Amino acid sequence: MKYIIYTILTILLIIGLLVFLPISSEDVNTPDLKEETPKIPEIVINDRFSLIQNTSERDGDITHIMIHFMSNVVANPNNPYVIEDNVAILERYGLSIHYIIDRDGIIYKLVPEELVAWHAGNGSLEGFPNMNNRMNNYSIGIELLGIGTEDEMTSFISREHYRRVPAEHIGFTHAQYESLNNLLNDILRRNPTILPNRNHIVGHSEWTAGIRPDPGELFNWKLFDFNK
Ligand SMILES: [Zn+2]
Repeated sequence: MKYIIYTILTILLIIGLLVFLPISSEDVNTPDLKEETPKIPEIVINDRFSLIQNTSERDGDITHIMIHFMSNVVANPNNPYVIEDNVAILERYGLSIHYIIDRDGIIYKLVPEELVAWHAGNGSLEGFPNMNNRMNNYSIGIELLGIGTEDEMTSFISREHYRRVPAEHIGFTHAQYESLNNLLNDILRRNPTILPNRNHIVGHSEWTAGIRPDPGELFNWKLFDFNK
């Protein structure tokens, strides 16, 4: 009887080893597998706000991304980045944008990419005569909550007004660069019609040739994967 019990226990032990060994050896290998697979950062999109009333239908491929900055510095130089205030500004002027990235790097989606958002205004882009005054139709727009240099901001506020803005509100935050980089990679992956270079990922200032300053001198284009 004892012999039978020992035999059964031994068989069970062998079966147990056969079942669990492959799993544990897989666990040991997992870190290597992770290193080989490129890590795609998770994009968390906040859809609390919508500006869908200020949109139209697209009639062509999306080929461009346009980067902007905006703030509520005119009305509130001490606290210019309240998200509700900034959405209200766009709404008030009959404008819209696909994404806003706040100072903490939170990405707000206000318009689906499939629709035309109204963010570029009239203008032209060197090398793309077909796009004259029609940038919105071909682009995805992204606003960073930010404030440019004193010279760049003179079209919005006086120099005295600018000097009242706390220093931490000027320029862009690390969290914003990180979120924008992740968002750009995500958009480029989903929209192969947008070529990943500076001819197709542009600033508002390049479109309006001096009329709009954004994203301006303080914006570091070199930080993005597509530009490396
Ligand atoms: Zn702009």
